[in-house]
Order: sequence, then structure tokens, then C-alpha cells
Amino acid sequence: MNPDWIYLDNNATTAPSTGVIGAMALALGQTWANASSSHPMGQEARQSLAMARSQLARLVGCKPAEIVFTSGATEANHMALRGAVGWDGRRRLVLSRGEHAGVQKLAHQLARQDQADVGWIGLNPDGSLNLDQARALITPEVAMVSVMAANNETGALMPIEPLAQMAHAHGALLHVDATQWVGKLPFDFAASGADLVSLSAHKFHGPKGIGALLVRQGLNWAALYPGSQERGRRGGTENLPGILGLGAAAERMTLSPEAWQRHIAAQTSLRDQLEQGLRDSLPGTVIFGEHAARLPNTSYLRFGQVHADVVLQRLERMGVMASSGAACSSSGQEPSPVLLAMGVSRAEALCAIRLSLSAQTTAAQIQTLLERLPLELAPLMAERTAPSSQTASPTGVFA
Ligand code: PMP
Repeated sequence: MNPDWIYLDNNATTAPSTGVIGAMALALGQTWANASSSHPMGQEARQSLAMARSQLARLVGCKPAEIVFTSGATEANHMALRGAVGWDGRRRLVLSRGEHAGVQKLAHQLARQDQADVGWIGLNPDGSLNLDQARALITPEVAMVSVMAANNETGALMPIEPLAQMAHAHGALLHVDATQWVGKLPFDFAASGADLVSLSAHKFHGPKGIGALLVRQGLNWAALYPGSQERGRRGGTENLPGILGLGAAAERMTLSPEAWQRHIAAQTSLRDQLEQGLRDSLPGTVIFGEHAARLPNTSYLRFGQVHADVVLQRLERMGVMASSGAACSSSGQEPSPVLLAMGVSRAEALCAIRLSLSAQTTAAQIQTLLERLPLELAPLMAERTAPSSQTASPTGVFA
């Protein structure tokens, strides 16, 4: 990577930490035996596996036995939703309009195949969850409520504890996709009230292709991939390099309450500096969900009516990596469904840019951005026209 590049796409993925790279190299070069083998090398691999499981358990406040390692959050989400269909004789799922594209697509597929019917909780204009709609939708027919802990685009935090109470009052389960929360804010599985939780290592400086589903102890959860590993819940030889990388990433973010406070304050301060600086130098900058409780590292914004593709081009020229929303859909010309669910117009949603920070982002990098971006964007923003049309002019300003 070019050392002058400025990486502000940490909600898409993060750089593996040095400890993670070391742990993975060790697993590839030394502890590479099959953790199910009975010989001493297998035992060694098994011990490493148990250590990584404990490291993750400490980060998220669960018991080691409640962890099922998966290939990432997508697989964990599939295990949760597919497992819920028919649970306790029920087939209704309740999801939010802010869920990750993979979850929304799976829910539509289950509905199309007539395996489930799905109720959708709307979002408020600031990106938070509409709790009145949640209350109306969560009824005794519901098998599972599935809501993300923090939105990958806006960073909006969702009300997990009230949802757990609503779900449990009707005998339904609560699944929480905590992929964007874990590693950014403290998380406690036992206290959250959730029955199932998905997470992914690459969002907190771990490797890609490894994550976990946390399954509350005592819950009789059917295996999606039956086999002997992971207590029969997920067959397949364990991905030890990934799991040890995840363990090292978890250990790095297992912080004391004071250290969490410092981490959150530092991220918030840098993010606020960025937003304030952009607002001051580029009037017409709009921050989506600005007043909602949100992740300290995330800023989702638009610069007047300047199309996201044009802003991204200018950022790229400056060596700044950003995206127009979820990595999985950012290559398309389609506006973010999350913004549409918040009531943002299609034209304005097509202007959205996500800047997401990490502890590796420096004040000097933010300063560089604040010095250079206004020079690029101010002339474009000055070409003020109504945002009613959906086609961008050659300069990227909506005509
Ligand atoms: N859920 C959320 C909220 C996410 O942000 C992501 C990653 N973009 C996923 C699920 C999928 O995670 P993974 O890449 O580990 O499959």
C-alpha cells in the first residue's frame, strides 16, 4: 500500500493488526495440524483453538461454548435466519429496513420460496429504528426478530434491549447482526438479551473469511452444516489461521472501561473534527443521521447535490479511499436502500459518501483531507441546481 494513501473505508474492512498477522503466520507455519486429530500435533492445534475461543468470549461477554466459528458474518446471518424458519412451529421473521443487503436478500428468498413470511420495521429519518412499528410487528406468530446492532452505512445504533424484551414477551427469538459494533464499542452478549449474535473479524483488524455466531446457552439450535466440529453445529475442518487471527484481534480490543472511554472519545473527536471542518469549508454539506446515536467512527454525508461518483473520483485523486455506501453495493448506480428507508430522495441518496475511520486514522490525515477536498468540491457545489432530476451532468451536479 502507498504510504501516502489515506484509508477511510474501515466499515468495508480494516487493516489486519501486526498481532493478527503474527498469529496467522504461526498457525500456517507451525500449528497447521487438524484440530480433530488425536496425536500431539492435533492436540496442539486444539489448544490454540480453545485459546482463540476464550479470547473472543472475553471480548463479547459470552461463554466459550456459546461460540460457533463461521466463515464470516454472512454465514452466521444465514445460520440464524435459516435456523429460525419453523422454530417453535412459527414461520414469521421480522427484520429492519436497515439490514445488510445479504440479510435482506436472504429474507426475500425465504419468502419467495414460501418458507417464511417477513415483516419489515421501518427507519426514522435519522436512521434509527422505528420502535412503534417494531411493537406493532412483533406478535405471537413471530419466530425471530433480526436487527443489526449498528448500521454499516449511517452508523446508527439500534435499540437491542427493548427489542429483546418485545421479542421475548411473545416467545420469539432475537438475532442481532453485531458486525459493525463488535470491536468498535464494548459488547456484552449476556447483558444484551440477544439469543443469537453474528460478528466478523475483518471489521476489527482481524482477517477476512472468519467470524462467529453466538448461540445463547440452552438454545437448541439446528445445525446448518451438520458435522462433528463446533459441537455439531458447523461441520468442516476449522480454519485455524483465521480463528487464531480472530482471537488476536479480539484480545487487542478487550479493553478496560477506561480504555474503551479513551478509544471512543478519540474516534468521536476525530470524526467530529472531520464533519465540522467539512461543514465550515463546504456549506451545503449534509450529514445523514447526524443527531442519532451512532458509531464514533462513521460519517455518512453528501456535498450539496454533487454525485457520489464525482466525489469519489476527486477523493481518489487525492489518495483518499472512501465509498458511497456498503462495499457490497457501492459499485452500482442504485441509491442506498437504507437512505431511501430514511425518506431521503433518490437524487440525494445518489450523492452519499461514507467516510469511516479507525484507530489507525491520524489527525494529520484528517487535516490533509480538510485542506484539499474543499478546493476540489467548492466549485462543483457552487453550480447550484435543483436535485429533482436523477441524471448527473458531466460535472456530477444534478441538473
Ligand atoms: N453484516 C454487516 C452489518 C456488515 O457490515 C457486513 C460486512 N459488510 C456483513 C454482515 C457481512 O460480513 P462478512 O464480510 O464477514 O460476510
